[in-house]
Amino acid sequence: MKPLIMILFTAAFLYRLFLTLLERRSFSNPIPANVRDVYDAETYEKWRGYKKEKLRTALYAAAAGYIADMLLLIFNGYARAAALFAGNVYNELFGVTLLSAIAGLITDIGFSWYDDMVTEQKYGFNRTDKKTFIADQAKNFIISLGLMTGLTCALAGIHMAMGDGMLLLFTAVLFLFGMLFSFLYPVFSKIFNKFTDLEDEELRRRLTALLEKNGYKVRAIRVMDASRRSTKSNAYFSGFGRMKTIVLYDTLLNTMDADEICAVFAHEMGHGLHKDTLKNQILSLISMFLLAFLLWFCLRTPGIYTAFGFEHVNYGFAVIIAVSVGMGLVSPLWGLLTSWHSRRAEYRADAQAVKEGYGAALISGLKKLTRGNFGDLAPSPLLVKLTYSHPTLSQRIAAIEKGSR
Ligand SMILES: [Zn+2]
Repeated sequence: MKPLIMILFTAAFLYRLFLTLLERRSFSNPIPANVRDVYDAETYEKWRGYKKEKLRTALYAAAAGYIADMLLLIFNGYARAAALFAGNVYNELFGVTLLSAIAGLITDIGFSWYDDMVTEQKYGFNRTDKKTFIADQAKNFIISLGLMTGLTCALAGIHMAMGDGMLLLFTAVLFLFGMLFSFLYPVFSKIFNKFTDLEDEELRRRLTALLEKNGYKVRAIRVMDASRRSTKSNAYFSGFGRMKTIVLYDTLLNTMDADEICAVFAHEMGHGLHKDTLKNQILSLISMFLLAFLLWFCLRTPGIYTAFGFEHVNYGFAVIIAVSVGMGLVSPLWGLLTSWHSRRAEYRADAQAVKEGYGAALISGLKKLTRGNFGDLAPSPLLVKLTYSHPTLSQRIAAIEKGSR
């Protein structure tokens, strides 16, 4: 059993490696004609240097994570951690979850630091200071450890009480957890950022008019102080039902003109009108059922635990195996399906902006976004199919122009 799991772990790692190499190879792809004006020759060279550096960091981080995983598996590190916390099922699963979180933090923090404080800094995107970086890492660590422990305890409780019935109940728990999280996302995000109301009277009037015209209700249009961390800009939908909020980055407001902001806003509203958030919830329900199935399978295979030094089933270890091995192996096919679905939703949201008469503004807005975020102009088509949640800039512009005619 041990060699088999190590091989599967390695296969999942190799797939991630393959995606990274695919990205690296695309740096010399020819730039499509409709996006050639995004960067000048000098900036494009700079972009290449930036991407290469980021990719190299990602590669090292992935390799470090893989080596740490392998060492922990070879030397039965998880069973040792569980033994330290021995007593009952919940203590033992906490030992494993804690070790996994600490190993993740240690292998990643140096690379995250390099990425934010060196690479992003060098290219002028970084606004994070040391204090914010450390505070973010600490908050992330505590939140993710808390979530993991909570969910794994729920898994243990449900499985011990219900056996095979856990498949359905655990999926439901996961789903409700996810719904609760996205419902409360506006609250969670306040831990990391400050939100204010949109001050520009005239702009707010135009955006509200767009919403009213389409009979679309949101709780608020908020501005997020994204400039605290980065110069990169974006806009997104947050929460659902009564908590529904459209969030605009302050960086977006600072770089775009009123028409472009309306265009981006109409795009976000398009997502809302097409119920894209709900559709994504359904997709995530399917993936949670898949995860619950993998967990159930892992829990029914005692050989997994004895092979790695445990005396009996450990729920924390089951989660690690199901997530990194199971989901890792499922992810090529799952990524292909979900990213295809997501790209279709993006085209539809763009079409909404075109319908509102903002086709040209959306094109210039998207170009500004790409320029500001140092986006890719000619990614590998295979990589786009496998992982891109958005069509490429060139594909989007072509579709917008077609729709505007
Ligand atoms: Zn979108």
